[in-house]
Amino acid sequence: MKINKEFTVCPACGHKGTVIQDRVDELISDGKMPVGTRLFAMMSKSPLLSPTQKIITSNGLTPGIVAIYDICSSCGCLYAVAIEEVDMIIPTPQQKKFPSN
Ligand SMILES: [Zn+2]
Repeated sequence: MKINKEFTVCPACGHKGTVIQDRVDELISDGKMPVGTRLFAMMSKSPLLSPTQKIITSNGLTPGIVAIYDICSSCGCLYAVAIEEVDMIIPTPQQKKFPSN
């Protein structure tokens, strides 16, 4: 079963608003951003494999967790507003290298 959760209140104080999305909502109501825009403070992508494992499906993807974070507009707590299990592309060691000059 895939994980797909949203957290709509701050776990520290119970407030509903977040700094980034509150501002985005203002810009949407001013007509400066498209309706439905969602932005956030941070995102983390964690593949569900250890460094020695290769759980890669036939289409080149591997399962992973994406967590999206925003900042409570009342108390400043950074918390996960959404967590979703996705199929992600894992870069090969060659793709991770920086280009050499
Ligand atoms: Zn809070």
